[in-house]
Amino acid sequence: MTSRYDRQKLIFGDEGQKKLSEATVGIIGCGGLGSSVITALASAGVGTLVLIDGDHPDITNLNRQFVYREGQKESKVDIASIWIRSLNPDCSVICHPKDLDADNAKEFLSRCDILVDCLDSIPARKILNKYSVDSNKILVHGGVCGYQGQVTVVVPNVTPCLECILKTVNNFNILMPSVGAAVSEIGSAEALEVIKLITGVGETLIGKLLVADMESNFYEVVELQKDPTCRICGIH
Ligand SMILES: [Zn+2]
Repeated sequence: MTSRYDRQKLIFGDEGQKKLSEATVGIIGCGGLGSSVITALASAGVGTLVLIDGDHPDITNLNRQFVYREGQKESKVDIASIWIRSLNPDCSVICHPKDLDADNAKEFLSRCDILVDCLDSIPARKILNKYSVDSNKILVHGGVCGYQGQVTVVVPNVTPCLECILKTVNNFNILMPSVGAAVSEIGSAEALEVIKLITGVGETLIGKLLVADMESNFYEVVELQKDPTCRICGIH
């Protein structure tokens, strides 16, 4: 009997597929990165997706946030959950139509095996990073600005955390340039890291940063260094 997963089982087999079906993945942010991540993970047969986003779509989102349509008024997580169910009824969805904060992180994310950073602000990422380190949950980080993007996998207390990497980066109070194809590329790279982490097949970006300059087609993977004085993961 043929199934929707036949072609990917050629990569990671029935065992990998079973691991995907049993996994629960938290998607923090359902914008451009989130659109790619939820689409790829739902299509691949991840069992449960937990969606967190307090926003509603607007017209300026639509060049990159492809799960939304003009004129939709519902919350992003509610629209995204309908999108996911139409893609793959095997995938369960849990929706939290609120932005992540230090108070709700545990309630929203404690059931998740892996967390995926699809956020667009440094303060929100720092909240997610602290929860990842405190709860010892793997965090897949992705970020994109214009044609520049990056992806890494944080394993708490093993690799550098996001604070080690982003401590010198301030939040930008500017309108971030954004083109859908570049955002989708970084979101797809994040989703692929999740699939590799769950199935155990493929080399991951644990402790390494993929730096993508999509303007000049320059891609590089660099080893990350832990900051021993990090206020989140360092000795203190
Ligand atoms: Zn750190």
